[in-house]
Amino acid sequence: MISLDGRDVRVPLELSSDVVVVGSGPAGAMVARTLARRGIGVLVVEEGPFVTPAEMPADSFSAMASLYRDMGASLMLGAPPMPFVQGRVVGGTSVVNGAISWRLPEDVHREWVAADPALSDALPYRELDALFDEIEADLGIHPTEAEIAGPNNLLLAKGAEILGLEHRPISRNVRGCRGLGRCLQGCPEGNKTSMDRSYLPDAVRHGARIVCNVEVTRVVHEQGRAVGVEGVTPSGARVRIRASRAVVLAASAVQSPVLLIRSGLQQGPVGRGFSAHPGAAVAGRFREPVRLWEGATQGHEVIGLRKERLKFEALGYDMTLVAARTKGVGASLVRDLEDLAHFANWGVAVRARAEGVVRAGPKRAIVTYSLEREDLRTTARGVKVLCEMMLAAGAEAVFPGIYGWPERVTERTALADLPAPSDPNAYTMAVTHMFGTCRMGSRPADAVVGTDFQHHAIEGLYVADSSVFPTNTGVNPQTSILALAAMCARHVAAR
Ligand SMILES: Cc1cc2nc3c(=O)[nH]c(=O)nc-3n(C[C@H](O)[C@H](O)[C@H](O)COP(=O)(O)OP(=O)(O)OC[C@H]3O[C@@H](n4cnc5c(N)ncnc54)[C@H](O)[C@@H]3O)c2cc1C
Ligand code: SF4
Repeated sequence: MISLDGRDVRVPLELSSDVVVVGSGPAGAMVARTLARRGIGVLVVEEGPFVTPAEMPADSFSAMASLYRDMGASLMLGAPPMPFVQGRVVGGTSVVNGAISWRLPEDVHREWVAADPALSDALPYRELDALFDEIEADLGIHPTEAEIAGPNNLLLAKGAEILGLEHRPISRNVRGCRGLGRCLQGCPEGNKTSMDRSYLPDAVRHGARIVCNVEVTRVVHEQGRAVGVEGVTPSGARVRIRASRAVVLAASAVQSPVLLIRSGLQQGPVGRGFSAHPGAAVAGRFREPVRLWEGATQGHEVIGLRKERLKFEALGYDMTLVAARTKGVGASLVRDLEDLAHFANWGVAVRARAEGVVRAGPKRAIVTYSLEREDLRTTARGVKVLCEMMLAAGAEAVFPGIYGWPERVTERTALADLPAPSDPNAYTMAVTHMFGTCRMGSRPADAVVGTDFQHHAIEGLYVADSSVFPTNTGVNPQTSILALAAMCARHVAAR
């Protein structure tokens, strides 16, 4: 599938194409596939390696090292300090994600249009809906079957049902999933329809080329027009790629603004307005074995508190990660480690109100992001609900993971009066969904790209990823990113 591997390039190289796409995650793959199917020449440049299903590592440590950016531990500065997790591989973060598929909720779309009425024509919901239909058919998106769910998912269903919270099996982009619980390390059987297994091969069948292991360092622009990109291979060789029609940035909501800034393009609020869904996780010990490393990695969700900006999901990890997350000391720690098979793990994603900033550091992006007081209260409420669901489902003990709260809770009544700590450092959280750093909008002063996804100041330069989203979405973003990227590609094709 790969035309050129940057590891084989040790001398300066010049390439050219109609369109250059930077990044091969959902946004880049969809743009490449849409354009290639229209007969337009496309060259996708990806910083990460190409990895086949058979090469996907079983353990988290090796997966983090080979498939993730910065060992999966890129750090945001702020309170609390949080890692932001991203894939760095052909297929982008879709290779290591949970395959959870959600349409952009209509209420979120209404918020976008209310804030900028021009988005009503630019992103009509009925067109998005038609794209969601196509994407769901292309990627085999369907609810997780009970036979492959495994206890970690089924217990979440039980807990939510007892508490009367709306819940359902997660719709995922998988075909022939056997519930091997390895989505976050890359599916070893290629059963997840991540971009390397779906839209990228389709793009290549229609003539697109993919270059891997080349990091794009800047967008080349002349007299207000994008004419290509410059990049570098692991050995330091320079690669210059000319684009006769357009350059499309699809490098993610962190890396796309960094590329603009490094290219001297400071138009609009570039890098500002970073928003996210910080997540916290709760572990619970059950009498019966849960074996959370088996079954669909993320197969069940609780959606009844979405209006409170909370969404809950079962979380499957490999054994090493479960062990690393086990709390306590001495004999109780030893006993819990011996009993790892009895632990369940569920997470809550918060639609945080906080906004942060992405800047270009000398070597990597610098992300500054601190949660607001209200976000901390929402998180504490979400953690409490997770604990309540676990206890309702039959957990002997739950481990809330908030500093200042009891380490282990065995009764629901013990949760009732626990106050939300106001110190952000009491919370352990991570971010996997990011948005808003090159916002779309009709007014150049408030937006980086226009309603046609084109940069307000540079002709022929487009941004296709979730950087352009006006806000976070409160739901898993991959399907929304795919749909908006398809719309971006239509504009590129029409120029
Ligand atoms: C562990 C995890 C689980 C997740 N689970 C889900 C889920 O179940 N459902 C869901 O909807 N979302 C999920 N997400 C989020 C989702 O995967 C991302 O929102 C989505 O992949 C973002 O798409 P993207 O194309 O914008 O960026 P990415 O998928 O991050 O792709 C960007 C690509 O660009 C490359 N790149 C960056 N900079 C450069 C450069 N300078 N030169 C060349 N290449 C570059 C990167 O290496 C990367 O491969 C998850 C995320 C994580 C981390
Ligand atoms: S749960 Fe297992 S089999 Fe299913 S897609 Fe994920 S890794 Fe593949």
